[in-house]
Amino acid sequence: MINQSDEHHEIREAVRQLCGQFPDEYFRKIDEQRGYPETFVNALMQAGWLGAMIPEEYGGPGLGLTAASVIVEEINRSGANSGAIHGHVYNIVTLLRNCSEAQKRKYLPDIAAGKLRIQSMAVTEPTTGTDTTKIKTVAVKKDGRYVVNGQKVWISRVQHSDLMVLLARTTPLSEVRKKSEGMSIFIVDLHRAIGNGLTIRAIPNMVNHETNELFFDDLEIPEENLIGEEGRGFKYILEGLNAERTLIAAECIGDGYWFVNRAVRYANERVVFDRPIGKNQGVQFPIADACIEVEAANLMRFKACELFDSRKPCGAQANMAKYLAAKASWNAANVCLQTHGGFGFANEYDVERKFRETRLYQVAPVSTNLIYSYVAEHVLGLPRSF
Ligand SMILES: Cc1cc2nc3c(=O)[nH]c(=O)nc-3n(C[C@H](O)[C@H](O)[C@H](O)COP(=O)(O)OP(=O)(O)OC[C@H]3O[C@@H](n4cnc5c(N)ncnc54)[C@H](O)[C@@H]3O)c2cc1C
Repeated sequence: MINQSDEHHEIREAVRQLCGQFPDEYFRKIDEQRGYPETFVNALMQAGWLGAMIPEEYGGPGLGLTAASVIVEEINRSGANSGAIHGHVYNIVTLLRNCSEAQKRKYLPDIAAGKLRIQSMAVTEPTTGTDTTKIKTVAVKKDGRYVVNGQKVWISRVQHSDLMVLLARTTPLSEVRKKSEGMSIFIVDLHRAIGNGLTIRAIPNMVNHETNELFFDDLEIPEENLIGEEGRGFKYILEGLNAERTLIAAECIGDGYWFVNRAVRYANERVVFDRPIGKNQGVQFPIADACIEVEAANLMRFKACELFDSRKPCGAQANMAKYLAAKASWNAANVCLQTHGGFGFANEYDVERKFRETRLYQVAPVSTNLIYSYVAEHVLGLPRSF
């Protein structure tokens, strides 16, 4: 592949080495058991990779989104799935950009030391879906605390996290000037909340992704757990989403390289009609096509990272990177499966597992249509469609 050397060579090597200790069999077994890769995640946390963006003053190495994206890319490129950890990485961005100094001192050193997980972000609701400003979960301020009632759906990694970032409406939609106003974000201590106003129910799903329905029934959150200013939570979430989209793009790039590499390997090894199948243009051209698309998407991913790290507007590039990379990884997944013929469907080749995993990124964390809509409105100046 073209992109073998870049300035993050040392990070790549170190993450590859760690991931190399967790072979395909490990992830295959976890997938079969619908388990969580606890040992793998602990190893990543202990090595400090998941707190990469935490500044030195709070105990982290102070790396940027570009470096963090290289870490998640390498995880996916190794055959693992960053879906088990990426929430932790992008929630750190939300804390860094919006928390008070006291909150940063309270949480960041333990997160950097790998002792505290902030894996979950609760935005999506069953009755409103992508129409986030209509969320019905409310947080009402009362005697030094907020009382939360409502419901969320598809909230991931809650069972493997200590903390969760929660978006709730603090001013009714009917009383705000703009519908994006009047929502706030909070840090929820999951150990205190579950069983005391928060009930969770796992959602079995196509990917081995730990994700849940959440039910809030008078959950009390201390006032000091409000992040930033009350009513500005949606803006804070959007900033975090640019990081999330860029990281997902990098994961898809990692998947894309994995699929292309596996397809090339199999095309060279598999002999049919007395020659490697890769000698046929009908087999090699789709792999070449997949490679070109992954490389092209990778450029937009690095563009988005660069803008984010220099604190320049990056909404368009983050969305475009996510769109291109998710499309490229899905194309590469199809090509890899086709190249493997029947064996692509056998669990032991891991292609079908990665195929399922990478499919998610056309839908979550933002669906392709919503990216088209963003570009139509914000880049092209077309009328807002909803
Ligand atoms: C495995 C998994 C993990 C997830 N993890 C989390 C998480 O941790 N936290 C969290 O908050 N959410 C999470 N989500 C939710 C995810 O972000 C949403 O599923 C996604 O944003 C799409 O929302 P929806 O499912 O409600 O689809 P809907 O909003 O119901 O949309 C359904 C379809 O209609 C299309 N559509 C809707 N409106 C329009 C329109 N105006 N124009 C064109 N097309 C439109 C959409 O593109 C989509 O394809 C997760 C989802 C999954 C599947």
